[in-house]
Amino acid sequence: MRDIQMVDLKAQYERIGPEIDTAIKSVLDSTAFIKGPDVRLFEEELQQYMGVRHVVSCANGTDALYLAMMVLGLEPGDEIITTDFTFIATVEVVALLGLKLVLVDPDPGTFNISAEAIRKAITPGTKAIVPVHLFGQCADMESIMELARDHDLYVIEDAAQATGADYIFRNGSKRKAGTIGHIGTTSFFPSKNLGCYGDGGALYTNDDNFAGKLRSIANHGMKVRYHYDDIGVNSRLDTIQAAILRVKLKYLTQFNESRRAVADFYDEAFKGLLRVTVPQRTKYSSHIFHQYTIRVKNGKRDELKKYLESMKIPAMVYYPGPLHMQEAYRYLGYNENDLPVTTSLCKEVLSLPMHPEMDQEQLDYIAFSINSFFDNSI
Ligand SMILES: *Cc1c(COP(=O)(O)O)cnc(C)c1O
Repeated sequence: MRDIQMVDLKAQYERIGPEIDTAIKSVLDSTAFIKGPDVRLFEEELQQYMGVRHVVSCANGTDALYLAMMVLGLEPGDEIITTDFTFIATVEVVALLGLKLVLVDPDPGTFNISAEAIRKAITPGTKAIVPVHLFGQCADMESIMELARDHDLYVIEDAAQATGADYIFRNGSKRKAGTIGHIGTTSFFPSKNLGCYGDGGALYTNDDNFAGKLRSIANHGMKVRYHYDDIGVNSRLDTIQAAILRVKLKYLTQFNESRRAVADFYDEAFKGLLRVTVPQRTKYSSHIFHQYTIRVKNGKRDELKKYLESMKIPAMVYYPGPLHMQEAYRYLGYNENDLPVTTSLCKEVLSLPMHPEMDQEQLDYIAFSINSFFDNSI
């Protein structure tokens, strides 16, 4: 059996390597390393795939969030509501811009922020909401957009983990994760569903003004060469990364389907286990399983993780500690018990190997191992 990996980028490269090599070589031959033609072509192809008016590429997913918040013209102290259960990037940009971070608990079933939880956190100082589509499934965007409209708030979707997921509206129409709010952001970190071979990121928007300003700010605030209308930053997607992403975008639908097949197998394999909760799937979103994250009850999570490691099955805790208790964010003044859902999720969650290259032998072995752990541990 091939060694099991959380994400097997090597196996993926073995599948699509020749196309990737050709794409990289053509950039090397052109020497157009910054803002070469592949960057614009990739943006256009991703626009098409996402069904959005504008894709603005940038250097990474964290910058994408930073640029999104810069463009909204927020003032220091403006309140931004987001989830306590996310990757640190979502909150650090809020802090860096001098905005006030307001953390709320996610829904324990979907791991995503709910409109109800957001509603309770809204004050006259609230300016924006940042829903994160965690692990590959959308937060309930229709309810969140209604709430935002009622309170005149901006919505920035952090879609770094959900590239390709569909949000399904009550009337049955669909939109891609990241294209529903005022601005959406994503990451092309290598392990993301659409990942490059280094760092990369992008923003989505249907608003022409935001798009123009984002493009300018990501490139030193420059619209016309050496004329600066905005204070900007240097955050561009390298041409080599764009060329790689053009190849990988063609496989995204297929890769996301393979991940879903793995998740279906896991669901079935674990359904008899009383102490394991499999990921909840909602009516309003497809799930592209950036992570397949189970919850393990009765304090057995760490024991299971150790056991799996002894069986050469990697498993990861995303995320081990609530953001509100991190040293750097003590200044926010939260107490441990202020966000109990996140605190308990951090003790229960375990993400299992999940990638499009998993084979049946590996899956059977994982299913067998997890079932035998619980058979023997009652
Ligand atoms: C990966 C990720 C980011 C940051 O992306 P980088 O490209 O690593 O900067 C932001 N938010 C979430 C939820 C992520 O998973």
